[in-house]
Amino acid sequence: MNLPLLRADLPTPALIVDRAALERNIAAMAAFAAAHGIALRPHAKTHKSADIARRQIAAGAAGICCAKLAEAEALAEEGVRDSHLTSPVVTASAIARLAALNRRIALSVVVDHPVNARLLGQGVDAPLRVFIDVDPGSHRTGVTSPAAAVALAQAIAETGILRLAGVQYYCGSHQHIQSLAERRAAIVERTAYLGTVLAALREAGFAVPIVTGGGTGTFAIDASLGAFTELQVGSYIFLDREYVDCELAGPHFEPALFVDATVVSANTPGMVTIDSGLKAFATDAGVPVVLAGAPASRYVFTGDEHGALLGDDLPELGARVTLMPPHCDPTVNLYDLYHVLDGDRIAETWPVTARGRSS
Ligand code: PLP
Ligand code: MN
Repeated sequence: MNLPLLRADLPTPALIVDRAALERNIAAMAAFAAAHGIALRPHAKTHKSADIARRQIAAGAAGICCAKLAEAEALAEEGVRDSHLTSPVVTASAIARLAALNRRIALSVVVDHPVNARLLGQGVDAPLRVFIDVDPGSHRTGVTSPAAAVALAQAIAETGILRLAGVQYYCGSHQHIQSLAERRAAIVERTAYLGTVLAALREAGFAVPIVTGGGTGTFAIDASLGAFTELQVGSYIFLDREYVDCELAGPHFEPALFVDATVVSANTPGMVTIDSGLKAFATDAGVPVVLAGAPASRYVFTGDEHGALLGDDLPELGARVTLMPPHCDPTVNLYDLYHVLDGDRIAETWPVTARGRSS
């Protein structure tokens, strides 16, 4: 592919990132965090891109979060050298990889069980920073009571080599509560619970220097409550249909991630077929939104390779359509490359560095 290229000449389906919108989103979150005196450690699970991580760090982020060890390994290869792992690392072989990565970059990891703390302590050969993951009630990961947090802090101290860096608290199921008032009420209640965990740890004599958490749906509420010293926001850089449907608080963010598609068949009244289906969009969060090319139409998944647009005023055979993904993170993981849009030109491509690196 010779670049720059007109957007209209790009083979489809194509993942597009609007450079100007991305940079405005990165700057807006960086300014928000700075204004509130909160550190920013954006979650790289959203973009899996060394190019984007570097931009976030250049804008003031302390480092990045990674969901999985392989994600952090892939980004470290590309020079991103400060990662916090937001999921527990529990098997012997994964702990060996964690120990190796800990020798190469600034690394931290969550832990939610004393057995895991002991295994981590035995597995690393240099001090490792760990965060107690606190379950906000969704039961994905995390300790489930203040007493369990204290017992885990004791187990961490007993290893002699793990360093308790703080607590992680991610209210995942709250991020997409559409009404801001309802989301705020739920987070006020959950933050009060977090306070009881922090108080128990401090009363037991454990310092909790960092409290890390929050997502795009809650960070402004979290900041107003003083809940965190560090924000782990991910999706703000791109947005997606799920977040566009939420009444977000804080600075304005704009959609920056799109999929361009092409009409490949137009033989049936009231519908056309485009070349973008189950392999082009994550399917967990409803359907993509048609933004340009046929904005009055409705998208329906019709198969692995195809989707249908339904409506009265449809594009012709060969026409281009731009869609907004329903859910950004798992959509990005379907592509090798971002096509970086500057005006109407694709100025460069960025690899999805950690694509498929979910282990
Ligand atoms: N922190 C953790 C632990 C997460 O799992 C996620 C996303 O799933 C985030 C932060 C980022 O959240 P969001 O993409 O809603 O900003
Ligand atoms: Mn997500």
